[in-house]
Amino acid sequence: MFRAAVPGQLRRAASLLRFQSTLVIAEHANDTLAPITLNTITAAKCLGGEVSCLVAGTKCDKVAQNLCKVAGVAKVLVAQHDMYKGLLAEELTPLILATHKQFSYTHICAGASAFGKNLLPRIAAKLDVAPISDIIAIKSPDTFVRTIYAGNAICTVKCNEEVKVFSVRGTSFEAAPTSGGSASSEKASSASPVGISEWLDQKLTKSDRPELTGAKVVVSGGRGLKSGENFKLLYDLADQLHAAVGASRAAVDAGFVPNDMQVGQTGKIVAPELYIAVGISGAIQHLAGMKDSKTIVAINKDPEAPIFQVADYGIVADLFKVVPEMTELLKKK
Ligand code: FAD
Repeated sequence: MFRAAVPGQLRRAASLLRFQSTLVIAEHANDTLAPITLNTITAAKCLGGEVSCLVAGTKCDKVAQNLCKVAGVAKVLVAQHDMYKGLLAEELTPLILATHKQFSYTHICAGASAFGKNLLPRIAAKLDVAPISDIIAIKSPDTFVRTIYAGNAICTVKCNEEVKVFSVRGTSFEAAPTSGGSASSEKASSASPVGISEWLDQKLTKSDRPELTGAKVVVSGGRGLKSGENFKLLYDLADQLHAAVGASRAAVDAGFVPNDMQVGQTGKIVAPELYIAVGISGAIQHLAGMKDSKTIVAINKDPEAPIFQVADYGIVADLFKVVPEMTELLKKK
């Protein structure tokens, strides 16, 4: 007996027959590409099919040119206009929808940074699909792996949407090589300004130290530091190790350091070669942001502190004694 397929089934069947084509939304600061975009490109390549990148900005030629050289990128679409200043989600969304209308992508993705977390839910809502956030692996073009419960459980999600909209955890995918590619570059579809929000200004922390999410070594401090001035101990140690400095939420909430230094579930996710946790107890929300680090060293005066359960090396001692000693030893080396 013939059974008529309902429209949803027909759409799903049609989407399975389509070739995979993925649009990666590039995060950048006009002349520099945010490293997480390269990790997102690697994730996009795991899907098979063609990978295109969309670069929107005011003077973003340099980023577009660099993206053309990234291995695995087939096409770079460029949209330059004053309305893309600050990469506001409100202005980018119509551009992405117009680009999708033109090329019918099977997947649209960006890094799971503040940029991607702000933009992708809006795109998904406009497309009337459920977004998948912060994926850590791809099993097949419709099956993704992500963490839940502050990283305590891993969940595999099968997505039946016609267009899969997802954000990518940068630390879970290698950066795509920045050479070896020869993508074509073309002007992206045009979209009219929305005008409901306006980019006014930004004040960025200036630091000679490496950026937290990309650093090979991270030294983080918690409430045990007792004050912002005492973070100098960590800056001195970090300088010897060419490390970035992070913090727990308790240290941020206490006003010791700015919140762009926060590591954890509601902060940044890091996975450096070496993570040194100083005066941090190891709450699950903090672990969610650093437990994938290759080697974890904990310095805490409480031998029962949970951080020692994930640490490869633990020093039970007063940080005010141990940290200056470590710095001095490294200076002598
Ligand atoms: P504490 O737990 O107070 O630990 C301080 C540690 O310092 C103690 O273990 C103590 O033994 C040690 N210490 C004190 N003095 C010394 C000394 N002289 N020498 C050596 N050790 C010393 N937290 C995050 O970090 N990141 C997040 O993203 C985050 N998101 C959250 C989201 C939600 C929804 C919630 C509810 C909480 C979140 N938290 C987050 C907060 C988290 O639960 C903890 O409260 C926080 O991580 C504790 O920070 P801490 O380890 O610095 O402070």
